[in-house]
Order: sequence, then structure tokens, then C-alpha cells
Amino acid sequence: MGNGNYIICQKCEYEREFLLGLGMMWGNIENIIGFMDKSSREEASKILQENPDPHYKTDGNCVYQCQKCFSLREKIHLLIYDKNGKIVYRTQSNCIKCKGKRKRLKENSNGILDKITCPKCKSNEVNVSEGFCWD
Ligand SMILES: [Zn+2]
Ligand SMILES: [Zn+2]
Repeated sequence: MGNGNYIICQKCEYEREFLLGLGMMWGNIENIIGFMDKSSREEASKILQENPDPHYKTDGNCVYQCQKCFSLREKIHLLIYDKNGKIVYRTQSNCIKCKGKRKRLKENSNGILDKITCPKCKSNEVNVSEGFCWD
């Protein structure tokens, strides 16, 4: 199950909806990789070939935010471990503008995004409410 997050900035009225968490159809790692964007998919598939049937962890859809320009990106979170438990793949989101890594925004225990900054006016007075549930 996943949950929706509806964000609206109190200052500039920027609004956006995210679908976070895990969909029911993501039964195995091949499926998860299949839902990723093209470059992540290629990278993760390569690692999967080198590490067949790996131990992995996913939090499903997550939101990543650039710490400089505050651009937002929704991406599928995935960690793949090798036999020794070392992380060999980790979802990363790069801001093309800043050439830096975006940081993953954590959700609180209710599945609501914490500490989100408005990408438009940089205000942190952003109201996040629960959207609809999905599966
Ligand atoms: Zn940026
Ligand atoms: Zn704003």
C-alpha cells in the first residue's frame, strides 16, 4: 500500500501531489526495477546481473529534494546488497542544475513528508496533507 501526499505552499500556492510508498504489484526486484526511470533501470539491471537474487530493500516511491535549488523529484527507492551485505546499488537523484545529489525527504510515522521546502519560492511553510490511498 502506498499513500498520497498533497503539498501546497502557503506563500506562493505551488501545489503538487506525490504518491509515496509501495504498490501491491511490486512483488519482486525485477518488477521494481521495471518501474524505475531509464538510467536507474539500466544501472540497477547491471548490478542485478552481477549479483543475482540479491538481498534488497525498497521503500517504494520516495521524494528527493535538492538542498540548493530545492527542486523535487519522485523516484523509486532501492537498495541492493551483495553477498557480504555491502550496498552495491542505492537510488540517487541528481539535480542537473546544481550538479549535486538530491536528499531523500523522510516521511513521518503517518507517511507524511517532513521538512519539505517549496521549490518555487523556497518557503518552508508548506502544508502537506494526506492524499488518497493507492495500491
Ligand atoms: Zn538543484
Ligand atoms: Zn512557495
